[in-house]
Amino acid sequence: AKQAGGSKLAFFTSDILVEASSRLTIASELKRAVAENELELYLQPQIDGANGAVVGAEALLRWNHPVKGFLTPDSFIDVAEQTRAIRLVTGWLVKEVFGIIERWQTQYPQLFISFNVSALDLADNELLRRMTEVLADHPIDTSRIELEIVESAIIENFESASSILVKLRKLGFCVAIDDFGTGYSSLAYLDKLPVDKLKIDREFISKLGEGEQSGVVKSIIDLAGNFGLRVVAEGVETAEQEHLLKAMGCNRVQGYYYSKPLPMSEFEAKYLTL
Ligand code: C2E
Ligand code: CA
Ligand code: CA
Ligand code: CA
Repeated sequence: AKQAGGSKLAFFTSDILVEASSRLTIASELKRAVAENELELYLQPQIDGANGAVVGAEALLRWNHPVKGFLTPDSFIDVAEQTRAIRLVTGWLVKEVFGIIERWQTQYPQLFISFNVSALDLADNELLRRMTEVLADHPIDTSRIELEIVESAIIENFESASSILVKLRKLGFCVAIDDFGTGYSSLAYLDKLPVDKLKIDREFISKLGEGEQSGVVKSIIDLAGNFGLRVVAEGVETAEQEHLLKAMGCNRVQGYYYSKPLPMSEFEAKYLTL
């Protein structure tokens, strides 16, 4: 029995080592990925439900890994955030996003791009510095760029995060709360957050039509209205969901019902004539 316990312990320890080394591998590989252009942005349209027009797009990260193949964020974003490699990724992202807006601005000055920012990006001035620096080289309409942030990233580091967001909004950038409704969602602080928009989490949207969740969705839409915030529903997959959202006064929608995230060239071929 003692021996079995011993080998179990050894097994357990080596598991931790494997786990730790694979995290380090992902982190250092991400550095290479940025340097070697292995990262790619996919775009998913945001739609004006009233007329079906594309109003903007969310940029979603993909990694063309030379050995592991095509990776979605689930397999590396958490590690990137925990090892600080996310800073490199976000730095790369900012430049890409500015580049897209610059490319679109003559023919499609009304379109925006949103991108996802993590808690670590709001822990110090790096993101702000980076955005200011890239803006100097790419003088674009800053209101065409939106940062998506989950509530917890703002609340858990309130001083730093809110001061950075205030500065970014002074420069004209927009801020959206991502996955709204899943976190704190407290009325007590919503008016203190420096934000422009709420994105209703797809967990609530997926249950629309089953009855009980429409109350939550309606409350969020009304809440946004009362606070002067724009609102968008994510994860819309059916005509019925679209219909219910419209009836509740939510005209901005995003989800597989309209389009999956597409490679840049496909997005442009499908929605734009550049
Ligand atoms: P998110 O920001 O909530 O992004 C929405 C996710 O839902 C995306 O998954 C998108 O492909 C997926 N989605 C969109 N419409 C539908 C739908 O109708 N039904 C369903 N079932 N899913 C839908 P994706 O691209 O795998 O990204 C997952 C998460 O990874 C994102 O969640 C975001 O938190 C994170 N992420 C993605 N790109 C970045 C990035 O550039 N930086 C950071 N920090 N995080 C990122
Ligand atoms: Ca998002
Ligand atoms: Ca989301
Ligand atoms: Ca999410």
